[in-house]
Amino acid sequence: MSARMITPGPKDLWFLPLGGCGEIGMNLNLYGHNGAWLMVDCGITFERDTHRIRPRVQTPDPQFIVEHKDALAGIVLTHAHEDHIGAMPLLWERFPVPVYTTPFTAEVLRRKAAGRGGKVPSPLIECLPGESQRIGPFDVRWLPITHSTPDTCALHIRCDAGNLLHTADWKIDRAPQVGPGFDDALFTAAGDSQLDAVICDSTNAVVPGHSISESEVRDGLMKTVAACEGRVVVACFASNIARIHSLINVANKTKRYLSLLGRSLQTMHSAALTVGLLERSPRLIEAGHLGYLPREEVLIVATGSQGEHGAALQRLANGSHPQLELESGDTVILSSRIIPGNEEPVERLIKRFRDQGITVIDSDSAVQTVHASGHPCADELAFMYQWSRPRLAVPVHGEQRHMKANARIARANGAKMALTGENGDLFYLAPEPGLRRKVARVGRLEQDEEGRLSPLAVPELPTA
Ligand SMILES: [Zn+2]
Ligand SMILES: [Zn+2]
Repeated sequence: MSARMITPGPKDLWFLPLGGCGEIGMNLNLYGHNGAWLMVDCGITFERDTHRIRPRVQTPDPQFIVEHKDALAGIVLTHAHEDHIGAMPLLWERFPVPVYTTPFTAEVLRRKAAGRGGKVPSPLIECLPGESQRIGPFDVRWLPITHSTPDTCALHIRCDAGNLLHTADWKIDRAPQVGPGFDDALFTAAGDSQLDAVICDSTNAVVPGHSISESEVRDGLMKTVAACEGRVVVACFASNIARIHSLINVANKTKRYLSLLGRSLQTMHSAALTVGLLERSPRLIEAGHLGYLPREEVLIVATGSQGEHGAALQRLANGSHPQLELESGDTVILSSRIIPGNEEPVERLIKRFRDQGITVIDSDSAVQTVHASGHPCADELAFMYQWSRPRLAVPVHGEQRHMKANARIARANGAKMALTGENGDLFYLAPEPGLRRKVARVGRLEQDEEGRLSPLAVPELPTA
């Protein structure tokens, strides 16, 4: 046994993030009670470097939990985004315990593991929203919550020492297009059990107001596409099944045929069909048929909204897509936001289209709403704290400024205390709230060309 073993006692409820606290990406959270740990999410981040064509995949350094793997009771995955499940196929063998998640996330995980040559966790236990599972000393209840990918769940985690709400990524969307609308009664009920803590998404805490509903995006895309004359290409994130669902409706209404360009879109669409979140649409056609259709009957959903090298959108911009060539008078709609760091490739992409007489509509230039964020703005955070009424708020999933803003909102809406820290810090949730800095080693692993993971070299300080 290592000298660094850190073990929660029977009266303790602890939270220890190894990734995603103080940054947006590669989430890895640990909850500790009575000698056991529960992992929530295990994601990757894409390190973008302008000198490289492809971004590099990085994972949190899991050393702490590898050393404590005998105490690890299980892993829960909250939703299908890469920053929450992407590292599972790469790391799971180092701490092989049962993995619990909702059917869509499980299906995406199986396909991702197959695509990357990684391992599918086994057993992979599917839980429906609303269900509960006993995992070690923890009772975990899956609370359905709205986000930009379906089947996302917040977690109400209870043990003998206390209870907490882990919100996962979320927004309040009353009409999300796919899956049930946001139900605040679930969070009021969780609050009735006197939550010791809420661990909460901070991504948009500095944005005032309320996020936009997917139903408004559907209406905006409907009006925008209806006004177009030539072919229309809509670029969006592949995991946004609601957006794909809306575009199938747009195709029906505007009498266009729809084709999905890009492997990740096809993977996500087929995963959604498999678990019954989408129905097969007769409007959907193979990309090979696009060339035979009149321009005004063509609607395309494409990957590559971040200007990624080799993605469908970039090949369309370069005129190198094997199944389709755009021409002057066609329209490209960017139904997405630019992830910070991707401004340059996206600008290059837009310029290349415009130079060919192709109209580009992005969320800045659009008259209609063509994109919505999947994260809560300030008003939504305030509601969540009013419903859940925790003693302690622990903002995560953000940089320090996002987490600090989230902490202020929590305090202003009834939380007695809010604590912000970073990866490797130990948060005491019960019996008494508190924070111990730098308890676990933190770092990153990076994947090389052959798929091997190795610790990221930390640049040495120059010797004086
Ligand atoms: Zn996330
Ligand atoms: Zn997410």
